[in-house]
Amino acid sequence: MHHFAFQLFHPAKLCYTINMNGKQIYDVIIVGAGASGMLCALECARRGKQVLLIEKEPIPGRKILASGNGRCNLTNRHVRPAYYHGDPVLLTKVFAQFSFENCRNYFETLGVVLTEENQGRFFPATGKSTAVVEPLKIALQETGAQLLLGEEVIRIRHKQDFTVTTKSGKNFSAHYLVLACGSCAYPQLSGTQSGYMLAKELGLTVNPPKPALSALCIKEKALSRLAGIRSQVLLQVWKNGQAIDQAEGEVLFTNYGISGPAALNVSSSISQELVHGNVPITLNFFPAIHPFQPFLENRLHQFATRKPKDFLAGLLHENIANLLIDFVGLRKNLPMQQQLPQAIQKIGNTLTQWPLSVISLRPWSESMVACGGVKTSEINYNTFESLRCKKLYITGELLDVNGKSGGFNLHFAWASGLIAARHLSAKE
Ligand SMILES: Cc1cc2nc3c(=O)[nH]c(=O)nc-3n(C[C@H](O)[C@H](O)[C@H](O)COP(=O)(O)OP(=O)(O)OC[C@H]3O[C@@H](n4cnc5c(N)ncnc54)[C@H](O)[C@@H]3O)c2cc1C
Repeated sequence: MHHFAFQLFHPAKLCYTINMNGKQIYDVIIVGAGASGMLCALECARRGKQVLLIEKEPIPGRKILASGNGRCNLTNRHVRPAYYHGDPVLLTKVFAQFSFENCRNYFETLGVVLTEENQGRFFPATGKSTAVVEPLKIALQETGAQLLLGEEVIRIRHKQDFTVTTKSGKNFSAHYLVLACGSCAYPQLSGTQSGYMLAKELGLTVNPPKPALSALCIKEKALSRLAGIRSQVLLQVWKNGQAIDQAEGEVLFTNYGISGPAALNVSSSISQELVHGNVPITLNFFPAIHPFQPFLENRLHQFATRKPKDFLAGLLHENIANLLIDFVGLRKNLPMQQQLPQAIQKIGNTLTQWPLSVISLRPWSESMVACGGVKTSEINYNTFESLRCKKLYITGELLDVNGKSGGFNLHFAWASGLIAARHLSAKE
């Protein structure tokens, strides 16, 4: 591990003051130079605060750089509470203070040219996430915030002020502290349990983190016959006969189960249900054809003399057709008109509600975010200040809020960092 400091000083400004005991003291220390921490630091410094931003990695914003396949899907035109798991009251307040339009303007003012893609997703026009991280670093430098890299905060003491201790034994003090440590998802890209531990030590409650935006491991082994195939489906998650979540879009079948955007987008709900055992899901391969049964009957009438494989040609991918034939028990060498009525009946039900069981999600190393985290009922919804520990702020994915894929997670990280900065900077 490299321990080095990359310090950004504003030439005309001291970054800390010396108190009566001769101790150096910052206005605010922010732990974690990810999406939330960088924006928080920038806004505090712009408001004249003396800021120290501490990051354990040798570079800031590792997850931002990797996000959106290296292209950084940084916000979404459709930002609203429905795209998140988290308290909708909190989320409504957050988006009232930092909406999609605010986010777009914010980054454009930073000099980032943006472009919109399908489903309201926004990316930097250069097609590279460095176009988000570099302007943020430059703006931080211009404001005089101090960035300390390669130093992990391992302990925080809170008396009148906060004193943080890093792994290498350095101590820093500040009047305000922001924990912007992110989640434990993707440990290979800076994800860590560290934020949860620090929050607990400061008296906060942490809902145990579980993987989200993660692919689904499926019990039915025969599904691996579809590995490599993509399909547009409606995926529904069931509990006691009720659909509790659903996503329409692409899935990718794999040797362990199902990946792709629609699978990732229901994974947070599944993650929470897995504590009770396997989670039932269904796939509708024809969400656009509704009702499906008359359509199927018409086709059965039209191609009554065809054998199952030929009957399904043009309707389904060949491998899905073969799996369906086995699953519903069609006899391969008989024409459709001679199949058993129960097998015919099962075709429609299976194609619109193919039943499967999720046994687990993929590991943390493949899960893009965490559900769970610091309990939001313990923070002030207008400011992100802890209700248990004054002058302590918690922002970003460390909180028990997670969004669907599409730029929603970064939007929440920016928004919470910025709101915390505005409020703590307005004090005193
Ligand atoms: C592969 C991948 C792709 C993604 N793509 C997208 C996408 O396209 N769009 C989207 O909206 N979201 C995406 N996300 C999710 C998004 O990146 C996160 O939700 C977001 O970065 C969270 O911001 P944050 O500031 O809370 O945490 P992070 O960005 O994770 O930053 C936290 C920082 O704190 C540091 N840190 C932690 N503990 C300490 C400590 N004790 N001392 C010092 N430093 C510490 C970490 O090293 C890290 O740099 C993706 C995530 C992954 C993993």
